[in-house]
Amino acid sequence: MTARTIDGTAVAAALRAGIAARVAALSYRPGLAVVLLGSDPASETYVRNKDKAATQAGIAAWTIRLPADTTPAALLERIETLNADPAVDGILVQLPLPPHIDAAAIVEAVDPAKDVDGFHPVNVGRLASGRPALVPCTPLGVMRLLAHENVTVAGARALVLGRSAIVGRPLVGLLLAANATVTVAHSHTRDLAAECRRADILVAAIGRPELVRGNWIMPGATVIDVGINRLPDGRLVGDVAFAEAAAVAGAITPVPGGVGPMTIACLLDNTVTAAERRRGTTGPPAG
Ligand code: NAP
Repeated sequence: MTARTIDGTAVAAALRAGIAARVAALSYRPGLAVVLLGSDPASETYVRNKDKAATQAGIAAWTIRLPADTTPAALLERIETLNADPAVDGILVQLPLPPHIDAAAIVEAVDPAKDVDGFHPVNVGRLASGRPALVPCTPLGVMRLLAHENVTVAGARALVLGRSAIVGRPLVGLLLAANATVTVAHSHTRDLAAECRRADILVAAIGRPELVRGNWIMPGATVIDVGINRLPDGRLVGDVAFAEAAAVAGAITPVPGGVGPMTIACLLDNTVTAAERRRGTTGPPAG
């Protein structure tokens, strides 16, 4: 069997086009504020890409650049201003933050209704208890990919490999909400290969290059590879040995070009969702 390669770039483009159409139908312009402390080159690139994608979708985007030595009090004050600003529907504080800032306190300062990263404990709790929430963008992207590929999630055995707060754990909540039978594996799991072999849907989010081998995959399974790992020779690979797995799976995401492009598309999705929940779909422009 040769797996169908899931083209995340194409699915993300379709999702972004749909978001632009949703925005065009609104009577106001949703707004996204991204807060960046310091000038870490990777963070700079992420923030630039988010700004560009938001603008292309018709979302008003503001990047608030603050010096790396901004005090926690000054950052909290800035977030309070954004919380109170009616033109701002989504607030994202680019992580990681410098070590003198307590990231958890900053995440908790963001209004949960504007928390487009889905990291606020209120949103985490809502997702865990099966209530509507703003959910983290990468796991949401995984669910959108499964939906786009018409993968049957209800009743499927899903294995989530990795239990981080930003990918693995929220994905468990989303898969459960979609009625999958969910197993979570992590670094203490006894026989990872055996767990993988039982999975109709396998999502790998561990950050270990090509750890998941082809003979760990159930024939016909759907494999979603969230991992992004740079090898010493400069190549980017996922957590799954792609060629081996593609010989066994039914469908598989490549790295790059799989889950990666979905993350920003889902940030835009969350921003418009937050705007619609706060302002309605036909409400007058705020502010
Ligand atoms: P993380 O916070 O480092 O968590 C890694 C998880 O994998 C942990 O739960 C860890 O287990 C588990 N793990 C590590 N080594 C393992 C092993 N040998 N066997 C079994 N489990 C193992 O990572 P993350 O932030 O979730 O990111 C995971 C990967 O996804 C990274 O490659 C990252 O770059 C990528 N990522 C991609 C996107 C995207 O947009 N596509 C977004 C976010 C992350 P313990 O809990 O027991 O330590």
